Amino acid sequence: LRRVTVGEALAAMAQFPVRTASIERVLLARLEGRVLAREVTAVEDVPCFDRSMVDGFAVRAAEVGRASPQQPVLLRIDGEVMMGAPPAGALEPGGAFVVPTGGAVPAGTTGVVKIEDTRVEGDRLYVLDGAHSADRITRARSDVTAGDVLFRAGRVLDPAALGLLAAAGVAHANAYVPPRIAVLVTGDELVESGRPLRLGQIRESNGTAVSAALNALGFEPQTGEIVPDDKDAFRQALRHALRTCDGAIISGGSSVGLRDFTPLIVGEAGEPGVVVHGVRARPGRPVLLAMIGDRPVIGLPGNPVSALVMFEALAKPMLLRMFDKTDETLPWRARLAEALEVEPDLEHRIPVRLQRAGQGLEATPLLGTSSQMHILAFADGIVIVPEGTSRVAPGSSIDVWPLTKLRTLR
Ligand code: AMP
Ligand code: MG
Repeated sequence: LRRVTVGEALAAMAQFPVRTASIERVLLARLEGRVLAREVTAVEDVPCFDRSMVDGFAVRAAEVGRASPQQPVLLRIDGEVMMGAPPAGALEPGGAFVVPTGGAVPAGTTGVVKIEDTRVEGDRLYVLDGAHSADRITRARSDVTAGDVLFRAGRVLDPAALGLLAAAGVAHANAYVPPRIAVLVTGDELVESGRPLRLGQIRESNGTAVSAALNALGFEPQTGEIVPDDKDAFRQALRHALRTCDGAIISGGSSVGLRDFTPLIVGEAGEPGVVVHGVRARPGRPVLLAMIGDRPVIGLPGNPVSALVMFEALAKPMLLRMFDKTDETLPWRARLAEALEVEPDLEHRIPVRLQRAGQGLEATPLLGTSSQMHILAFADGIVIVPEGTSRVAPGSSIDVWPLTKLRTLR
């Protein structure tokens, strides 16, 4: 294995073009969690008209500015604005209109007085406090102007984004079709959920975890039968995956053991072939990165923690290129609770638990081996200790990288 750093591995892969996902027009109601493929512009102004911020009376601000309980200003109530309806008429000098919160104020309105600051007798309105009336109007277009670019391509449509699209009259948008990614799980010892387990057999778990991560990132995982450690069966499974999918993730068999066939089978699957085999990082050293045509193929080590950690570190950024996106995950800043001691010959990824401490966050390392999945499942994120560092002192300020949660792509 000619090992490179994780950064070098990604740089090596970046030289090869990756197929981009195809694009489809999607109705607003189906855009949740989708990745925009084109920028989206506002169709309508938000709001489309000047609106009252309070329940009260539309007035001319200059007429009521000095009103006080001792010297009320007397106005004439000329009409009432109904929700959802245009105002019947314009505001005349000396006049006022009843307006509900959010109602359209009549033309000529320059202020709104709150109902609590008035007294009404028939159609006579006594304004008892006229200060700040001009601040109670939400102006047309103060949120969005029709034609504004709301989002650029690559934006994932989360609840606030969807709300803004709906408010701005956007009924559909161009989104990426979730690329199909084959999830090939290899290993003679593996048994899928629901089948009895004999001594020596291992419950298959990477297929489940990797599929969930793919889903969360906007891909469509394609799973199949567990592939035995047999060259022909493996060859056939990969061939089928590359025929039917846009990329593949292989779990297991990526190392140099006698029954580790991932390097061989991926190597003969096509050009340019294997680009990286082995990284100077733990866990996940025996990872394999390849490109078959413009389809990325990632061979994850079988150890469940290694598999998911390398998925985050390498598969995620590689696959996001299909959406023309870079990984925009931001770390949390935290204080290290305990010393971290590692071998300095490799970069280390250490799962940590976060808790509040004073004004900030405190990270406690979860130590164990890369076969202990509970370590990752109980972790909030990962600390990356660079190559060449053997100790990080307690109290050090560190970055904690969040793990992919369901639908957390930014
Ligand atoms: P390998 O990368 O194939 O050498 O596998 C490394 C270790 O991970 C072995 O102990 C395997 O039993 C285990 N392993 C491989 N694939 C899986 C899987 N899909 N689910 C759970 N454990 C696995
Ligand atoms: Mg194996």
